[in-house]
Amino acid sequence: MPDIDSITDNPADGMQRLHLIMQLLQTLDNGLILLDRDHNIQLWNSFMENHSGISTSDARNRNLFELFPDLPQAWLKRKIESVFKLQSRTFCTWEEHPRLFNFKSTRPMTGHSAKMYQNITFIPLHGLDKTVNQVCLLVYDVTEIATRKKELESANESLRLVSRTDGLTKLYNRAYWEECLKLEFQRSQRSGRPASLILLDIDHFKTFNDTHGHQAGDQALRMVGQLLQKFRRATDTAGRYGGEEFGIILPETTVEQAKIFAERLRLKIATSDVIWDGESLALSISIGISALQADMNTHQDWIEASDNALYQSKAAGRNRVSVAGDSAE
Ligand code: GH3
Ligand code: MG
Ligand code: MG
Repeated sequence: MPDIDSITDNPADGMQRLHLIMQLLQTLDNGLILLDRDHNIQLWNSFMENHSGISTSDARNRNLFELFPDLPQAWLKRKIESVFKLQSRTFCTWEEHPRLFNFKSTRPMTGHSAKMYQNITFIPLHGLDKTVNQVCLLVYDVTEIATRKKELESANESLRLVSRTDGLTKLYNRAYWEECLKLEFQRSQRSGRPASLILLDIDHFKTFNDTHGHQAGDQALRMVGQLLQKFRRATDTAGRYGGEEFGIILPETTVEQAKIFAERLRLKIATSDVIWDGESLALSISIGISALQADMNTHQDWIEASDNALYQSKAAGRNRVSVAGDSAE
């Protein structure tokens, strides 16, 4: 077979050249589509044949949008029109339109078949008279890259979650919960809307551990964590503040409303046993509540107010709820 540069200008060589070029296009590992102004297909290479199941002879002279009614027609027509008009290339990435053509791709890493993610380049083709009458679409299979990126994003999301979560109770850990508290402090200070902060501490937990063992103590902490999650509203944020201390941020909540919530929680824990090693073990908590006040400077002031109320509950005999500013109950 002659090489492409040794072919002369005579018509037989012209055919030869065309034949070689067509062979090259067929071996491309990308999809190649040539469209005229009316979106009729002029060229359809073997990549497109293999992935669409539509042969070159069936595709030729057919309208692209009749052949693929699922294409985003209005958007794609606009895109192609801009290539004709501006006579310059344009692109569409898998992130904008993940799968323009609904093809399958075999992932080389796993051998699994997956939906094909595609990048597409739109290229204007100039005729001999310099006008653009055809647009070429190059379709790249980027499934491997897209899948890797999505896997990485999902791994990062899991890491983010893990770094926020307390391993034992599955509540937010102190660092993340305190960030949430700072945000709520600023938000409610700005808006002047009410917000309440609950701190709670398990009563005589050292004795509980000493009597029933550390594992039973861990089980008690898990139970309290679960009850907090169950009782809180979707907009409340619960976290493990310390060893056996927990915090709940209640946006848009007055202390009176927070007190009703806290009392229900206290009662629930006081009447729920920790089941451990076939035994039912009793537990109680003390609670302190404070409302966000306009004269508080930082979220630490808010914590301090709730902590003082919690201290009142402990001093008054434990297993009770106290509100900052109220006299001990
Ligand atoms: P009070 O009613 O005054 O709160 O008494 P307390 O015994 O609960 O208070 P103290 O702060 O003396 O004891 C807290 C205990 O919590 C001591 C510690 O061993 C236990 N603790 C902290 N973190 C964990 C944990 O992750 N697991 C278990 N099992 N115990 C923990
Ligand atoms: Mg404590
Ligand atoms: Mg305690």
